[in-house]
Amino acid sequence: MDSEPYPHLFKPLDLGFTQLKNRILMGSMHTGLEESRDGYESLAAYFAERAAGQVGLMVTGGIAPNWSGWVSPFSARLASKGPVRRHRQITNAVHAEGGKICLQILHAGRYGYHPLCVAPSAIKSPISPFKPWALTRTGIRRTIADFARTAALAREAGYDGVEVMGSEGYLINQFLVNHTNKRRDSWGGTYENRMRFPLEIVRAVRKAVGHDFIIIFRLSLIDLIPDGSSWEEIVLLAQQLEKEGVNLINSGIGWHEARVPTIATQVPRGTFTWLTARLRQEVSLPVIATNRINMPNQAEEILEQGAADMVSMARPFLADPEWARKAMEGRNREINTCIACNQACLDHVFSGKTASCLVNPRACNETTLRFTPTALPRKIGVIGAGPAGLTFAIHAAERGHEVHLFEKETEIGGQFRLAARIPGKEEFRETLRYFEEMLRLRGVNMHLGTALDEEKIWNLSMDEWVFAAGVKPREVSDIAGFDDSRVVSYPDLLSGKVPPGDKVAIIGSGGVGFDVATFLAHSQGYDTNSFLSSWGVDTSFKNAGGLLPGKEFVRSPRTIYMLQRKQGKAGKSLGKTTGWIHRTELQRRGVVFLSGITYERLDEQGLHLSHADGHKECLAVDQVVICAGQEPAWTFPFESMSQLGTVHRIGGVRDARELDAQKAIHEAAQLAAAI
Ligand code: NAP
Ligand code: SF4
Repeated sequence: MDSEPYPHLFKPLDLGFTQLKNRILMGSMHTGLEESRDGYESLAAYFAERAAGQVGLMVTGGIAPNWSGWVSPFSARLASKGPVRRHRQITNAVHAEGGKICLQILHAGRYGYHPLCVAPSAIKSPISPFKPWALTRTGIRRTIADFARTAALAREAGYDGVEVMGSEGYLINQFLVNHTNKRRDSWGGTYENRMRFPLEIVRAVRKAVGHDFIIIFRLSLIDLIPDGSSWEEIVLLAQQLEKEGVNLINSGIGWHEARVPTIATQVPRGTFTWLTARLRQEVSLPVIATNRINMPNQAEEILEQGAADMVSMARPFLADPEWARKAMEGRNREINTCIACNQACLDHVFSGKTASCLVNPRACNETTLRFTPTALPRKIGVIGAGPAGLTFAIHAAERGHEVHLFEKETEIGGQFRLAARIPGKEEFRETLRYFEEMLRLRGVNMHLGTALDEEKIWNLSMDEWVFAAGVKPREVSDIAGFDDSRVVSYPDLLSGKVPPGDKVAIIGSGGVGFDVATFLAHSQGYDTNSFLSSWGVDTSFKNAGGLLPGKEFVRSPRTIYMLQRKQGKAGKSLGKTTGWIHRTELQRRGVVFLSGITYERLDEQGLHLSHADGHKECLAVDQVVICAGQEPAWTFPFESMSQLGTVHRIGGVRDARELDAQKAIHEAAQLAAAI
């Protein structure tokens, strides 16, 4: 490469006392390792890999300054010298790779999932069962001192700076807005009083750490809650923070309790950078853009257009620790792009599990999952080029095995290719591009359009076989009339083999049923403007908090019924952090959900059902789409195949009951590391 492909992204940033090698920030992401046994050793390896991957600056997951600031009971805290040694493992590992790292100080306030949580006023949040204790004035003073103490300890532990978490609805945010701060003393009432808390924290932190230590302030640029901060208040706070000696302002978008998606895959890329661009005109310190930035071209464009001085990405560095190096070397096609699914990162963290990444199972498993060169290269046949087969093939080939990948279709991708057709899931195309590039680079022998049967397999000589043929949709044949041509499978619908009907009943309300409903309910894809207006985001910022009242979604061009036999809310199996988005959106587009029903028959009038209370109904539909779960695509007599050599089964072939890309990819990676 003659010249650097991204001159703005790789321009160093001079902070006076220190220089960042580029404009890339790895944003804070709690991994769960912070609380696990030997977690710091694993965290050191995790951060070191990203530092070696050339990230300019990194931020740790949130660390509480005291116990009342815990996110959940006994979550990580830095309040004494005890843990300093553990943190040094991280900072030493990062510095050895030439990186820089800040510790994030996070006080959860009323979001604390424990009975000791505190807030400016005793008002329960809608996302926690615990009512907080209102901080006394002494308590406020003590909390400010605790932030300063944590910052000083972070310096002692070798960090290059701290990030003060002032957004996403945590304690500092709670002080800033009338919605949660009803105090009548000098910490509430006027905005001057409400912003005293963050200003005094930053002042105390600066005093504790001196002037040659980075302070990032994560500032909420739009709260997306009623009665949140106004734009004028946000600007005033940013200007005051600058005076107090903050070095960088990072953007925060929306409180956790906001009912607007801010990072899910449906959010178009870079949807919120207009806010950072607007703030940048009001302050002279560098500002950092964030949320749904995942590829270098987009990051470069944000900087080139002057919308920000740096870009922050958190999940994209779970997906690919080498993101920055690959961008620097013009190897974009090799980037394993974060698809913003939240399935293995945030959904894990919010369920109390360690984070990882759906597309990169090594994330947070750096010390245990390694693809080292094999001492015994083997000839391995892999059947199926879906997520499991692809993952296995590239990592086994990376280790030095001779891999032959057989796929009956003429394209790779399996279920991912179907998923990429769902509006809001376009990011899956990036994963397919990544796989294609890696198959080429790793020299996997491709046999597309090759359907293998038992006889063909016997005639191929391999040392080992890996069956990764995935799943096929479960057929529903026990309902009268379901042999009709109006009954179609979801792959036939999504692949375009059959056109959608006007009035459609979806049999099954699992993840695939929701995908099909989204496919049918959209007359157009997502774009930033329609996304913002549909979800009621006030881009003129006339309303404090940045919300507009009740904007309507574009209604579905079709009548859609989503059906399930079990009682209760549809979509219970959807992701913890994204299920509400799917449900809200489909409801607002007019999709009808029916639970607790029994299928009677399909005839010329339509689909006949009976409800749990006994009443009967006929849905006058012209199409029925079966989304009733999955079965293994391959029911080969594996047990009788020992003469073939060693045979392995991964993904849907192994267990189709819960087709889950995360599980399939993880299994494939484990096998590739071990084989
Ligand atoms: P699923 O989640 O198991 O859902 C299958 C649905 O079919 C259920 O609603 C079930 O409800 C119904 N069903 C099962 N057997 C039936 C039968 N014989 N007749 C009629 N209805 C039947 O399966 P899936 O939707 O294929 O999803 C598979 C996996 O992929 C899940 O783990 C899912 O979470 C994941 N996935 C997730 C997403 C996402 O998060 N957006 C998207 C796609 C896939 P009743 O038995 O109550 O009728
Ligand atoms: Fe991104 Fe999904 Fe991986 Fe999370 S699990 S980092 S959202 S690809």
